[in-house]
Amino acid sequence: MTDDQKSTAKPYIYDLDLHELTALLKSWGEPSFRARQIWQGLYQHWWRQPEDFTTLSKTLRQRLVDKVEFSHLRPITELKSSDEETLKTLFFLPDEQPIETVRMRYNKRRTLCISTQAGCAMGCTFCATGQMGFLRHLSSGEIVEQVIYFSRRLAVQKERVTNIVVMGMGEPLHNYQPTLDAIRRLNHPEGLNLGARRFTISTVGLVPQIRQLITEDVQINLAISLHAADDELRATMLPVNRRYPIADLMDAVREYSRTTRRRVTFEWALIQQINDTPEQAQKLAAILKGMLAHVNLIPLNPTLGFKGEASSQGRARQFQQILENEGIACTIRLRRGIDIQAGCGQLASR
Ligand code: SAH
Ligand code: SF4
Repeated sequence: MTDDQKSTAKPYIYDLDLHELTALLKSWGEPSFRARQIWQGLYQHWWRQPEDFTTLSKTLRQRLVDKVEFSHLRPITELKSSDEETLKTLFFLPDEQPIETVRMRYNKRRTLCISTQAGCAMGCTFCATGQMGFLRHLSSGEIVEQVIYFSRRLAVQKERVTNIVVMGMGEPLHNYQPTLDAIRRLNHPEGLNLGARRFTISTVGLVPQIRQLITEDVQINLAISLHAADDELRATMLPVNRRYPIADLMDAVREYSRTTRRRVTFEWALIQQINDTPEQAQKLAAILKGMLAHVNLIPLNPTLGFKGEASSQGRARQFQQILENEGIACTIRLRRGIDIQAGCGQLASR
């Protein structure tokens, strides 16, 4: 949204932090406790529209109807995986841009995979979102509302969102401030109160933003989409590698890990005969030696625009074995939601 649009459009309630909401209410001559009541309605009861705010006067409810936008997400389609554990919802934003959000059940976990952009500008060859190109950044509220939408639905079954992975459409660190603002809002003690450690941001490796993340006061988990252990191969898969080669990326990640004392996850989509060779495994082991790291191996999920195939089970195990022999923690991730195109890198509206 441009500054021009901002000044004329109605404010969108999920774009506001408590401070801004208080200022808005104050400009209407309302005391600050009213802002807190609204905040609690939004983030503790997941009320959907002004009419639901029965704690407020009728006049104030009407003012909210007239002056504030309560939703940007219009659910269009919903797909459930055959095992019923994964659910993917396609939403349209007010300007008809598409985004997708995925809800996963795993034991007691209820994990949401949320989007930060419609499309993505990073162009990774094997990723469906990359293949569709960049449409636009989401506002912080559009990121937050994905979580509220599913919180509301889970509440019906007396369940709650337990974890958030910022791994849906888009590159979160390319939309840095709105993503961080959204996490802070969801983390707010008087709101949803989701602990910072329940968030994982996955990035293709934007070095300056990783360095900036080190200076933030939120202790979130970081995952790095590495996928290749030398610049030559990585640049063919992830164009961003030409700007931020592996050595620079790893310098920033090591600093992140040293400063925050947090274990960093490295993601690796295993592609048959491309990046699943013993040589790549050895190089990866050398890169991660001595670091607090965990490697997630994800057999490639199919996408329309990429010809490579997922590694066979045998090759995946061999890759894992080489890492483990070098003392590096490593898991082969279950492929989930593939039948509904809800797996990693499969989000794109069709
Ligand atoms: N833009 C961020 C987060 C969204 S992508 C990032 O790239 O990290 C989420 C994860 O899915 C990333 O690790 C990405 O590399 C991976 N991914 C993309 N396409 C994939 C595919 N076809 N199969 C398996 N994983 C894929
Ligand atoms: Fe964007 Fe991540 Fe897909 Fe790359 S893998 S195109 S950074 S969403």
